[in-house]
Amino acid sequence: MKTDIQIANEANLEHISTIAEKLGMTEDDIEFYGKYKAKLSDELWEKVKDNEDGKLVLVTAINPTPAGEGKTTTTVGLGQAMGKLGKNAIIALREPSLGPCMGIKGGAAGGGYAQVVPMEDINLHFTGDIHAVSIAHNLLSAMLDNHLQQGNVLGIDPRQIIWKRVVDMNDRALRSIIVGLGGKMQGVPREDGFMISVASEVMAILCLAEDIADLKERLGQIVVAYSYEGKPITAGDLKAQGAMAALLKDAVKPNLVQTLENTPAIMHGGPFANIAHGCNSIRATKLALKLSDIVITEAGFGADLGAEKFLDIKCRKGNLHPDAIVIVATIRALKYNGGVKKDALSEENVEAVDAGFVNLEKHIENLQQYHVPIVVTLNSFITDSEKEINLVKEKCEAMGCEFALSEVWAKGGEGGISLAKKVIHTLETKESHFQPLYDEQDTIEEKVSSVAQKIYGANDVHYTAKAKKAIKKIVEMGLDKLPICIAKTQYSFSDNPKLLGRPEGFDITVREARVSAGAGFIVLITGNVMTMPGLPKKPSAEDIDVDHEGNITGLF
Ligand code: ADP
Ligand code: MG
Repeated sequence: MKTDIQIANEANLEHISTIAEKLGMTEDDIEFYGKYKAKLSDELWEKVKDNEDGKLVLVTAINPTPAGEGKTTTTVGLGQAMGKLGKNAIIALREPSLGPCMGIKGGAAGGGYAQVVPMEDINLHFTGDIHAVSIAHNLLSAMLDNHLQQGNVLGIDPRQIIWKRVVDMNDRALRSIIVGLGGKMQGVPREDGFMISVASEVMAILCLAEDIADLKERLGQIVVAYSYEGKPITAGDLKAQGAMAALLKDAVKPNLVQTLENTPAIMHGGPFANIAHGCNSIRATKLALKLSDIVITEAGFGADLGAEKFLDIKCRKGNLHPDAIVIVATIRALKYNGGVKKDALSEENVEAVDAGFVNLEKHIENLQQYHVPIVVTLNSFITDSEKEINLVKEKCEAMGCEFALSEVWAKGGEGGISLAKKVIHTLETKESHFQPLYDEQDTIEEKVSSVAQKIYGANDVHYTAKAKKAIKKIVEMGLDKLPICIAKTQYSFSDNPKLLGRPEGFDITVREARVSAGAGFIVLITGNVMTMPGLPKKPSAEDIDVDHEGNITGLF
């Protein structure tokens, strides 16, 4: 069997200007980054902003196994299938982070015969957006520490600095560090730490900002610390927002690439789906809607995290109206949710699929609360048996859901035709009456209870003393009327990764709360959420190589 990168290398790429032409753009509308990548210019928006919007389709998934269930692969394959059916479709994805790429999960450009290319560029440095985010973030850190060094006029309490540094790598040794050691001229010693770049609030802001002016304003609102009097200190107080925005001037422009079958793909931004909202940029999605009839986009993790945040944060902020939702399930994730251990997922086990179906059922019920039509797709693996597949199909149809088997990983667009037809049929015949789950004006506790009870299926929500204190502070600061962003394990509806399937009768505990005032949401942390992952015992990086001609191997 061919590897992802072998398949990608055999693709017949078209020059990026040809891809742009398919969307009605000229060379003036794009900025070239080599032959196969381009950025979409600021002027383009002005040109197309009065076009009618296309239809918006979200791809999400059930609770996954640790390997990922193929949302990106399905998104790409569905776009390719739309192309085969002669539809004018664009896919809109996030940019991959280097952490998972070098770690355990691999890249994020799809897989098999459903990939975006050039995959090695996309997975490595791409057009430098994540580096720009990192450096803009770290400029703020440097200005903050310099402020302490230069006399601390703002009275920043070094024990109450919440702005950590970032790097786009899984580097556990940087989680907790001490900076400023070495004497009077080397800074003020204090505890600090690193997060992975995609966990930065700067990334979330990049993805939610309307334009550069909005970006700058939001950057200025980032809360970095508290003063000795308990007053919030912002990036604006440190006069950092102008230079940060300057560093992001190109990163704010969406990137254009293509799929293996030359379907246009916009990839832009990539915030974490736990402490941030896990979707590509609003700017990219809006532009895609102006440029095509159907836009297919993805949100991170399972639907309890990614889709909830897409619908309650991104769609609310961007005034977006999703027209259909595709839920990706896999036989192996259903078995995993039915209690099968990781190493036995490839053996036929109809009973376990049946037992694990409750997980999919709960996701379907959850998304029905948003009043957007749903299509379920089974991302087919070669190990799936016909009996297992038929069971899922019957159970979905019994719930009144459209169902399609997807074979895009093995067959590309061709393998996604039946899914694409179901999606098109849904778009043509069912109306979306999208409504967010809760009212922004509710109290923080009411908003958390809405998500915990209606989406997770929890009985009750507990708050630690630390979380209660933090919430009180957010209310005092007048920042409580924002959407919420709950950080939780992706493996369970609950805050315990071991409770698989459709757990009931559980409570969740909010351990920490903080406000991302620039991004415009309140982060509530449950369980043990990692903002700086570590590398596994055998990192993928050990298998990645480049030969003397510059050909890269080992990426997936
Ligand atoms: P997600 O976006 O849900 O995290 P991805 O689409 O990135 O998942 O897929 C995760 C991994 O699984 C990728 O390495 C991809 O190549 C692989 N994969 C996806 N679908 C299939 C499939 N049907 N058969 C085999 N491998 C697959
Ligand atoms: Mg993905």
